[in-house]
Amino acid sequence: MSKSAVPEGRPPAFVYRHEVLHCERAPLPDLAQKHGTPLYVYSATTIRDRYRTFDRAFRGFPHTVCYSVKANPNLALLKMLAGLRCGFDVVSGGELQRVQHAARKAARRVVFSGVGKTAEEMDAALRAGILMFNVESESEMAALAERSARLKKRARLAFRVNPDVPAETHPYIATGLHQHKFGVPIDAARRLYERAAREKWLEVAGVSVHIGSQITSVEPFGAAMERVAELVRALQSHGHCIRYVDAGGGLGIRYDAQELPEFAEHVKAFAKAVTRPLRGLGVHLLLEPGRSIVGPAGALLVRVLYRKSNNGKSFLVVDGAMNDLIRPALYGAHHEIVPVVRPHVEERDIVDVVGPICETGDFFARDRALPPVEEGGLLAILDTGAYGMSITSNYNTRPRAAEVLVEGKRARVIRKRETLEDLLRGEVQ
Ligand SMILES: *Cc1c(COP(=O)(O)O)cnc(C)c1O
Repeated sequence: MSKSAVPEGRPPAFVYRHEVLHCERAPLPDLAQKHGTPLYVYSATTIRDRYRTFDRAFRGFPHTVCYSVKANPNLALLKMLAGLRCGFDVVSGGELQRVQHAARKAARRVVFSGVGKTAEEMDAALRAGILMFNVESESEMAALAERSARLKKRARLAFRVNPDVPAETHPYIATGLHQHKFGVPIDAARRLYERAAREKWLEVAGVSVHIGSQITSVEPFGAAMERVAELVRALQSHGHCIRYVDAGGGLGIRYDAQELPEFAEHVKAFAKAVTRPLRGLGVHLLLEPGRSIVGPAGALLVRVLYRKSNNGKSFLVVDGAMNDLIRPALYGAHHEIVPVVRPHVEERDIVDVVGPICETGDFFARDRALPPVEEGGLLAILDTGAYGMSITSNYNTRPRAAEVLVEGKRARVIRKRETLEDLLRGEVQ
């Protein structure tokens, strides 16, 4: 019925068996019954599969895949990926701690990105012995030089350069244009590398780039990499030892009916676009995929509380809300929504699927054609494994959803449902 229920990865993350939606072999009604709703459900097999597919696409080029933790930072997922020798891209000291918590030795395969690293975060990363800092300004470089000198720990560094290439994506998640806050202008980079090379405790090691997120065409990645390769060549000819190129993340997935190649083909095309400009430079490639690894592996399970209609406009009020999944409200993002138990009717209702929060922006879908669903019925909001749980909040004093990881028939809770006590713990009256 919905293309997203026939997902890109193999074996399928979410499939109907006898009209009941399953995650792998676990029936979703059972999970909802046992763990309550709203509930995030992830397919372990799908995550592993997609990681391996991604990794395999770069087989011909020395590389390390550094999963972008912010897409979904759950410890169980980090541990599983670390077990596959995956590296990690972190954007805060908190994410670094998560990685260390999940897999002590994985810090060696961590790259640290972000425009606002604090001294404390730098110290933690230096002590952990991470692979590389992606530095985003001259001031940050000075701060890193100071911290590394104080701790007497060498800091391997790359500048994140802004290649000024447009990427067709939502304006909030495009990052590679000169007007964005990210990176240093590629034309100014040469001078910064000269400066960094004079710092005793800094080791110039790489060039980084990340042009944005949910970019489905591979051309912008190729264009950015052409510019990066040019810079690498110039730096190398000036005696800098550039051993790493970090291509960032950003490969998009299919959320709606948009035509995209099957995942393995898509990543292959992506790999080709990224590696072609780098041939002969003798660099080790770092990749920072987030969404493309975990996005299609997750669904948010919600229950219909009420059906209502106002002057002919119909609503399904569900127990999940924008605090559980903000992508529709924040980016106008589309998510396929499917009934967990598929009814035997052709009939479709045009409905808004909304949450209980006191905001007009609290919706999951507008004017969506859905099969009729009763009050108490379950809906699955698909492709929510990335930037779902990781951007939750407690708005309206709503405790956060639980998370469940499925493997075959087995399901285990990887994050307990938050309690009101959890929420109020830090407050003083
Ligand atoms: C968010 C982010 C990523 C991951 O992007 P995806 O679109 O999820 O692949 C990678 N690198 C950096 C620096 C990021 O900020």
